[in-house]
Amino acid sequence: MNSRQWTVVFCVAVAVVLLCVTAPVVLFGGVIAAACSPATQPSTAATATGEPGRWDAEQVGHATTMVTVGAGMLVPPRGWVIAVATAMQESNLRNLGHLGAGNDHDSLGLFQQRPSQGWGTPEQVMDPRYAAGKFYEKLLAVPGWRSMSLTEAAQAVQRSAYPHAYARHEAAATVLVGSITGGMQACDGVGSGGWVMPVDGPIVSGFRTPERPGHDGIDIAAAKGTPIRAAATAVVIKVACNASLNGRPYPCDRDGSPQVAGCGWYTELKTANIVHRYCHQRVAPYVVVGQQVKIGQIIGVVGTSGHSSGPHLHWEVHDVSDGGEASSANALDPEVFLSDMGVTQPAEG
Ligand SMILES: [Zn+2]
Repeated sequence: MNSRQWTVVFCVAVAVVLLCVTAPVVLFGGVIAAACSPATQPSTAATATGEPGRWDAEQVGHATTMVTVGAGMLVPPRGWVIAVATAMQESNLRNLGHLGAGNDHDSLGLFQQRPSQGWGTPEQVMDPRYAAGKFYEKLLAVPGWRSMSLTEAAQAVQRSAYPHAYARHEAAATVLVGSITGGMQACDGVGSGGWVMPVDGPIVSGFRTPERPGHDGIDIAAAKGTPIRAAATAVVIKVACNASLNGRPYPCDRDGSPQVAGCGWYTELKTANIVHRYCHQRVAPYVVVGQQVKIGQIIGVVGTSGHSSGPHLHWEVHDVSDGGEASSANALDPEVFLSDMGVTQPAEG
């Protein structure tokens, strides 16, 4: 098969896993418009989880909200799994209202948060975005939560009478979160060549412009914390911090500046003979070297680490068919490359 036929096969496979909608769907609080809605039908969700009929549209939708709120709050993916597993136990991923006489105290919503215990008003804890945000707020305040077992971390937030019930949802939550992040792609924006824009936002600086002849990529403006998506299905070949000030190493976990040199926290992905580089991430990238990522998968979040004057993604594309590494000598104009791949881009902003 040629590449175009493979693309068709890929898109059909994607369509089986996802319900791609043609109308713009607002995700990430509107940051990513015109995106593809992750599995929102029972059959498609079942395919994604490998457990036929287990999760329906409402349940997958709530889990998706937890992932997007978590990504926006810079919660690492482990936290997303903890949130989803907790909600599986507390509400079976349903936004439960008051159950009358059968209600447990004044518990409400996905996480069964109690207004009387300081979680918020009844209206607030019934808002899935608020409830997820509140869960993460408490989780992030737990010292050492990242090295705890799921039960320990969830219990530190929830203080449940049945803490050991959380652990039995860990595998299912891991699979569900994986299917959501792997499927978080802009189906509308996928070009015929199987590429998408890694971040939805205006291109504020182009490739090797007269003002910046040494600029080997494009700058896409987006708010800090905006998820960065793999522009194509790829393998991760580099994850690193590259920043220095006056010749000395400079941290990547803090904002950089025009005086700081380097890419900050960055990732390189490789698809066939193309290396794509993602610079200035806010925190350590969410992927590891050797990992396979799917087009649209969240690989990190936008920041301004390294040589950067404000939050944006500096994105490069390199043709390494000569077998070498990505370098200035083999950099391609990303806008031309995406156009060749059939991706339509936003106007220069
Ligand atoms: Zn740049």
